[in-house]
Amino acid sequence: MEHNLVLYNTLTRKKEKFVPLHPNLVGMYVCGPTVYSDVHLGNCRTFVSFDLIFRYLLHLGYKVRYVRNITDAGHLEGDNDEGDDKFAKKAKLEKLEPMEIVQKYTIGFHDVLRLFNTIPPSIEPTATGHISEQIEMIQEIIKNGFAYEVNGTVYFDVEKYVKEYNYTILTNRNLEDLLNNTRELGGQDEKRGRLDFALWIKAKPEHIMRWPSPWGVGFPGWHIECSAMSRKYLGDQFDIHGGGMDLAATHHTNEIAQSEACNHTTPAKYWMHTNMLTVNGTRMSKSAGNGFLPGELFTGNHPLLNRGYSPMSVRFFMLQAHYRSTLDFSNDALEAADKGYKRLMAAIGLLDKIVPSSKSNFGDLSEIKRRSYAAMDDDFNSPVLIAELFEAVRIINSIYDGKLTISAEDLEDLKSYLQSFVFDVLGLKDDQIGDADNMDELMQIIINLRNEAKKNKDFVTSDRIREQLNSVGIQLKDNKDGTLWNKI
Ligand code: AMP
Ligand code: ZN
Repeated sequence: MEHNLVLYNTLTRKKEKFVPLHPNLVGMYVCGPTVYSDVHLGNCRTFVSFDLIFRYLLHLGYKVRYVRNITDAGHLEGDNDEGDDKFAKKAKLEKLEPMEIVQKYTIGFHDVLRLFNTIPPSIEPTATGHISEQIEMIQEIIKNGFAYEVNGTVYFDVEKYVKEYNYTILTNRNLEDLLNNTRELGGQDEKRGRLDFALWIKAKPEHIMRWPSPWGVGFPGWHIECSAMSRKYLGDQFDIHGGGMDLAATHHTNEIAQSEACNHTTPAKYWMHTNMLTVNGTRMSKSAGNGFLPGELFTGNHPLLNRGYSPMSVRFFMLQAHYRSTLDFSNDALEAADKGYKRLMAAIGLLDKIVPSSKSNFGDLSEIKRRSYAAMDDDFNSPVLIAELFEAVRIINSIYDGKLTISAEDLEDLKSYLQSFVFDVLGLKDDQIGDADNMDELMQIIINLRNEAKKNKDFVTSDRIREQLNSVGIQLKDNKDGTLWNKI
């Protein structure tokens, strides 16, 4: 299998030909969510970007093992060994067990990604399910001389590491600058060097999530989980490691250091980083308070939104930008994407109504196909692919209007081209509701069923009906006269 796929490797800061370590097999690890709160649309953008990458690799015929973890322990607020534990803090706030928090937000995460039509990863390991693998890796790092224990906490010895390896290989930062920008150690610090970070943290008596270890009762640091789980499922060396750009400077830098210190080899051949979703130019994040929840977007229930948008319109909005460009979120941009998505679906809908002629005169489909592959082969350039798809839309509309002709054979070819690129590669699906004449009657049946469930206090069913209608682009509104429905 010979492909011309080229991708941008953060490690080398250039586009490189993609050559997997083992022919036809791809191992890909992507940092998953920290499940202590609802995922916002920015998080979703990163996972949709890797879904596009996963889908295209599958389309090319690779057998892909895609591992995406769930961070359900060890992530402190400071992203290193400082601050409160995100899970314990949220558990206290919501008066739940930390594992109830994990369960609640893991389910929410899966529900949202299903609405965006992402393919689940091949393996979705959790940090809490791999404590022993993390302990083992820390032991090996200590044995190799790159970590030390102080009073029940184990630190990675960055100063020792930089003597043999390049700690800033991923971001190309100057080590002196990095040191100067890092807080100086005080008398209370246990660490030896100010860049040292925790691999294992001693649990304070009040810390709920705790496990026994050779160094006493504690919990793992955030970075070690990804190193341990990628090694377990993909080996010491694998093809692609991905995540949002914001993870490169600390999390991924430390992952590389841990893997090198343990396995004496760099973990991934290609590092891929997705760019951020912004709102008025500011990165969408929970802490900035500009984090749109996908549900707010689908229902339009947000002060900054004029109306709701269906999950597929939002997916299309995301795919119209290259994964390494920022994407700014606005009503106008969503409106335009919604129009584009509907135009694409409408044209595909026309294909079944087109009557083929004996000959085609619409031009060269193989050229469009070639350019579509060239776009995706060029670092997964979905906006250029979408431009090619609109060339096909223009042709379909002209054929339907009788201005151009297509042969039966070419029509089949055109259908299979659109199936491949629109549905398989871009991962779109047609969520447009047909305008059936009896739509109102059908909706009344569903609304009555939901009302019955509500009367029986079966709120699980009534909520599910509402949410599932939402996912196909129908919104229910309860008011005092009953329930109204509308398309979103
Ligand atoms: P977290 O749950 O905070 O660990 O984040 C999960 C993923 O979402 C990480 O890969 C982040 O880099 C990514 N992410 C966070 N904020 C954004 C954003 N505004 N745009 C795109 N990706 C983001
Ligand atoms: Zn990670």
